[in-house]
Amino acid sequence: MHSHELAALIRQVPDYPQPGVVFRDITPLLASPAGFASAVDALVELSPREVDVVVGIEARGFLFGAPVALALGAGFVPIRKPAKLPREVVSVTYELEYGTETLALHTDAFASGARVLIVDDVLATGGTVVAAAELVARLGGELVGVTLLSELAYLGGRGRLVDAGISPVTSLLTFD
Ligand code: 5GP
Repeated sequence: MHSHELAALIRQVPDYPQPGVVFRDITPLLASPAGFASAVDALVELSPREVDVVVGIEARGFLFGAPVALALGAGFVPIRKPAKLPREVVSVTYELEYGTETLALHTDAFASGARVLIVDDVLATGGTVVAAAELVARLGGELVGVTLLSELAYLGGRGRLVDAGISPVTSLLTFD
């Protein structure tokens, strides 16, 4: 499926979750057998080969991270919202496009030195990926890349990742 067809499966929802924000709704893409399969295949192609674990960020990062992990022969590790992981965690609180968020990762999620790929659905301001990368670093993981379904270029997230020394960052779809 061409990228413009995939992009057409992501709907713009004005004023969600608050006035002035245009939310990109990926549920039509997930509901399309051809769209979902093609998006996952393309994300795998964009990703580095040598990956020990894929880290997916709750919740939509799970939907793309898990199939990408299977295709790469890697494990899958969830980064979750507070009070969801049952054992000892490292956590980080950061600013979102709308409000603040805390993310947590099990302290024994992967061994120090593991090659880690972060996968998420949308890069907006970049705060979420920066926070996820910090958690990965705190466990001694080697971040080998960030693979994104889409990037909202007008929010400048990519620049924020560059400033944080996070690379390579690849996104399948860019919305200007
Ligand atoms: P950031 O931290 O880059 O500002 O926001 C990215 C995080 O918020 C991602 O985990 C993503 O799932 C979620 N997010 C922010 N804006 C959108 C959006 O318009 N659509 C979707 N599907 N997720 C978004």
